[in-house]
Parts: sequence; structure tokens; C-alpha cells
Amino acid sequence: MRGPIDDKFDRIDFARDLRGVVVVFNLDDVREVTSAGVNEWLRAIADAKAAYAAFLRCRPAVVSRFNDVPGFGGGGQIISFYLPYECPRCRTTFQTLHDMRRPHAWVGALAPPPANCPACHRPALFDGLPEMYLAYLAKAATPDPPALAEELIEEAEARERRIAAAAAKKAAQKAAGGQKKAEGAEGRTT
Ligand SMILES: [Zn+2]
Repeated sequence: MRGPIDDKFDRIDFARDLRGVVVVFNLDDVREVTSAGVNEWLRAIADAKAAYAAFLRCRPAVVSRFNDVPGFGGGGQIISFYLPYECPRCRTTFQTLHDMRRPHAWVGALAPPPANCPACHRPALFDGLPEMYLAYLAKAATPDPPALAEELIEEAEARERRIAAAAAKKAAQKAAGGQKKAEGAEGRTT
């Protein structure tokens, strides 16, 4: 799924395709869920009647909805989710990804794990109330996706790895290009 879940969410189309199927939602790109979006989503998920549903890479905006809105997952399972952090020193904000198929004692303890700032490598602070993100997960059963869902999860993760690799390559090329430009500029001044 791409973009926010808001009043433009098409629940009729959404539900029509899902009856009786195994479905894995990759929510990596869903960074906002509006109140209007919640209402549409709840009706869609109730109408969908999937055989099995799983939610992959839930952003904090989505995880917090699982916590506030009863039935938000419609019986589907959260496979993986992000937690939000902020660096107190350089103010970098970032999110860490966690897989619910492995047990994490800190989920039950409502105590997010320590994380270091990717920019300055110092310890970062959890950016929010832990129970807003972890209360639902602490009570949820360990996900047990059927084989077909596991395959879909692996496909989605492979796609995410390709996207991340392409982004890293682009960033490296941009940095190298910038470097060349800087060298060129230096060449002209000397
Ligand atoms: Zn920092």
C-alpha cells in the first residue's frame, strides 16, 4: 500500500480483492492514518474476509492505531513494526524495525530497546509514550503466518532490500558527484 490511509482510501476496491485469500500488507509507505481513514479502514477490513492477513513494516502512525482503535487489524497479525527515536544531541529522528516472529522481552515490559543515533552514534531517546506503541503488541500472540504468507513476506522484504540498495547507490553517486564538482571547483581556483 502506498501513501496515507485517509478519506481517499477506496474500501470497496480494497475489500473486493481480498475475500478468502492470504494477504500480506506491506505498510512501509503508510506514514499517516487520519480519523476519516480509520473509519474507512475499519469497514474495509470487516468486509474483506481474508483467510489470513498480516501487516508488515507498520510505521508508528499505524502501530499507534492498533493500540487506540479496537479491531484495527481485523484479526490480522503484525509481523514487523517500527519504533520512533530522536537524538537529544543533533535532533535526528529515525525509526528502528522489529520482527514480532522473534520474542522480545522488552515488548512485554513496555520498555523500548536502546538505539543509537545514525548520524552522531550517541544514545537516542524513545520519541513517544512506550505504551502507545507496545501495549497492543504486548498482548498480541506471536504471529504464525502460513507458508504462503511467509513466502509473500520474504518477497516483500526482498523488494525492500532492493529499494534500500538502489537508494544507497543513488546517495553514493550523488556524494561522488558532489565530490567531483568540489574538486573541479577547486581545480579552477588554483
Ligand atoms: Zn545524533
